[in-house]
Amino acid sequence: MLTTIIYRSHICDDVPVKTLEEMVATANQKNGEAGVTGILLFNGTHFFQLLEGPEEGVLPIYNHICEDGRHYNVVELMRDYAPSRRFGKAGMELFDLREYDSDEVLQTVLDKGTSKYQLTYDDRALQFFRTFVEAREKENYFEIPPGDSWDFISDGNAVKPENLVIDNAADCSFAFQPIIDPLAQEVVSLEALIRTPSGDTPRAYFESLSGDAIYEADLNSKRVAFAMARALNLGEQMLSVNLLPMTLVKVPGAVSVLLQEIEANGLVPDQVIVEFTESEVISRLDEFTDAVKLLKAAGIQLAIDHFGAGFAGLSLLAQFQPDRVKINRALIKDVHKSGPRQAIIQGIIKSCASLEISVCAVGVEKAEEWMWLESAGVSLFQGHLFAAPEFGGIPAVAWPEKKSGF
Ligand code: C2E
Ligand code: MN
Ligand code: MN
Repeated sequence: MLTTIIYRSHICDDVPVKTLEEMVATANQKNGEAGVTGILLFNGTHFFQLLEGPEEGVLPIYNHICEDGRHYNVVELMRDYAPSRRFGKAGMELFDLREYDSDEVLQTVLDKGTSKYQLTYDDRALQFFRTFVEAREKENYFEIPPGDSWDFISDGNAVKPENLVIDNAADCSFAFQPIIDPLAQEVVSLEALIRTPSGDTPRAYFESLSGDAIYEADLNSKRVAFAMARALNLGEQMLSVNLLPMTLVKVPGAVSVLLQEIEANGLVPDQVIVEFTESEVISRLDEFTDAVKLLKAAGIQLAIDHFGAGFAGLSLLAQFQPDRVKINRALIKDVHKSGPRQAIIQGIIKSCASLEISVCAVGVEKAEEWMWLESAGVSLFQGHLFAAPEFGGIPAVAWPEKKSGF
């Protein structure tokens, strides 16, 4: 199937522009053999390339391009399928935008095109050309340094009691993972993540339950979470707990139970954040909304979890106005390389900024993901890059420190 990939990247400072013609000539031959055509634009700092050809030809060539040491911050802007090539003849011609007047350059590029329809009708690929040639999205290019320009240095502050026995009868336990502001070097909250007594996953814990027993167990488990928080000397630290939305609807008096357990364990509602894990549709919206009002009236904060995945979409912001939104790992993963993820996350950040809702990125594993998100305006992070969840304890945090020379 005819596949189109468009990317942009930044040229490395030490690459003489003269050598680019050579590079293009070599690429041309390889691309020709794979049936890949396209066009390469250069504006003095950035490349913009369109590759077209059969999927099995385009993908290996694109992957190879991503590894090329002569450019960095390669961001895939578009991957799409089309009935015919837009630049069937042009080969991998290098087109230096600086050699043309600004009023003729776009037309000159488009004149290289070979598909009469796509040049006539609205076409995403050609809109990307226009945007690049007119330098209209440049404020959204976040040029991040290489991942190894930071060291991540553990503060050694793990809290791991030898045996943290809360209640021998408890059928669950918890792991704790910090939510941090890396640049302020501050632990903003600790999230309690449910485990089986032997430390197995939430899925393993909930698997053994069925019907409404899930909701009862979900609520009752919070007693264990609060008790462990007390045993771990949480002090005034914020504590985040997860709840299924239907737990608040199906278990009578759920909010009162929560408040009782918070108080019984020496905590205050104002230090608790409830995260809604939107794995199911909220079918009884009125009752859920009432429960949310009670939570807020008691001083408990609200976060929407897994934002950007499944049901947890933008419309929830209009319904609930949470204090925090947690962006799902699926959107965070390799965000520094993905135009679509960057666009969605920038949309989330913008919406949340207008509503004074704080944004947290979950599942951050790579320094590049973190740096891109900081550049975009996210300051709260949770992920293995900084600290993985610690079963029955609080993990040390690895704080970023800029290496000298960068
Ligand atoms: P969540 O609330 O989004 O919690 C974060 C999950 O991401 C945790 O998985 C954590 O281990 C994982 N994680 C954190 N950093 C990274 C990372 O850098 N890379 C990767 N790949 N994963 C990372 P966990 O503990 O398995 O929990 C899964 C989900 O189970 C939670 O997602 C939450 O939705 C749910 N859950 C946890 N505790 C409870 C609970 O008490 N009640 C309910 N209803 N759901 C819970
Ligand atoms: Mn939270
Ligand atoms: Mn959560």
